[in-house]
Amino acid sequence: MASAKEILVALDPEIKLNLYPFRLTANNATEIFEPYDFIVDATDNFDSKFLIDTACHNTAKPYSHAGIREFRGQTMTVHPGATACYHCLFHEEGAPTAAIPKGPLGAVPGIIGSIQATEAIKNILSIGTPLTNTLLTCDTLTMKIRTIKVQRDSFCPTCGTQ
Ligand SMILES: [Zn+2]
Repeated sequence: MASAKEILVALDPEIKLNLYPFRLTANNATEIFEPYDFIVDATDNFDSKFLIDTACHNTAKPYSHAGIREFRGQTMTVHPGATACYHCLFHEEGAPTAAIPKGPLGAVPGIIGSIQATEAIKNILSIGTPLTNTLLTCDTLTMKIRTIKVQRDSFCPTCGTQ
């Protein structure tokens, strides 16, 4: 974290960074998210993704979900209460608990992270069409990028109405 800060400050000495050198939890997520306009989920585990989804709903913060595995990645933007959320698509009881045997190809987080950064900029500037109700998937083995329409689940534990 400190080395990333050094690199970013070297690139742009005017940049303002807030480091959080501790684990995100249900007890601190809402307070950490509160001052920000948009949250980018770049975590590497299901527990954190479900936690971020819930905290963004609790704070009404739009966010970008992403997940990567080996040669594939996916991303989706969520506007809490208005569009499909992470819990609408994925359920905690079905999330794998074992570690993924192989790490991702290094380029995959770069591709997906760049899309997430674009979504954050679009949201802040209120331009373009957000990647909401749409799951973008990228398979670097075939270089196929697809978008899949998704819908809110009325029985979603986070944003459901029933
Ligand atoms: Zn939902």
